[in-house]
Order: sequence, then structure tokens, then C-alpha cells
Amino acid sequence: MSNLPFTLPHCTDPATERLEVYSPADGRLHGSLDAIGYICDRHGAEAVSVAESANLAAYRTPMCPDGVRTCGQALVFAVSAGGAR
Ligand SMILES: [Zn+2]
Repeated sequence: MSNLPFTLPHCTDPATERLEVYSPADGRLHGSLDAIGYICDRHGAEAVSVAESANLAAYRTPMCPDGVRTCGQALVFAVSAGGAR
């Protein structure tokens, strides 16, 4: 479903949080916003740790109230094309 460099935890619950996923660039921890993941309460902490184990920075933010995403969905903005690795 996504091209994330890691696998988000997922379930059938509605997402309650967004996970902003940044890849480092130019020595800054959050160089570019690469993806938004959608996660439920139960999977928030796990989602952060899988992102971090892929050397990405992840931040949890509250979902907008009218969001209709399911836990584990993701929106990927950038495909790393020979970038910072
Ligand atoms: Zn979940």
C-alpha cells in the first residue's frame, strides 16, 4: 500500500493520530517531510519505533477530527532518490 522504507503497524481501527515521518538531510534531524502515516492509539509508540529503526524521525500529532483514515495507512511524498542515507 505504501512505499515507506519500513512497515507501519496496522489494524482495522480508525486512525487517531498522524505520524509525520522525516528523513535527515544536511545534518538536520528532520530535513524533509517524507511521509504521513495514520495510526491508532494502540500503535502510536510502535510506529515511532519502527520509523526510528529505519533512521527516520517520527512525530505523532493529533488527527484532524474529520479524518477517515484507517490505522496503518500512509501518504508518501518523496521517494528517496540517492538522497541522504
Ligand atoms: Zn492500530
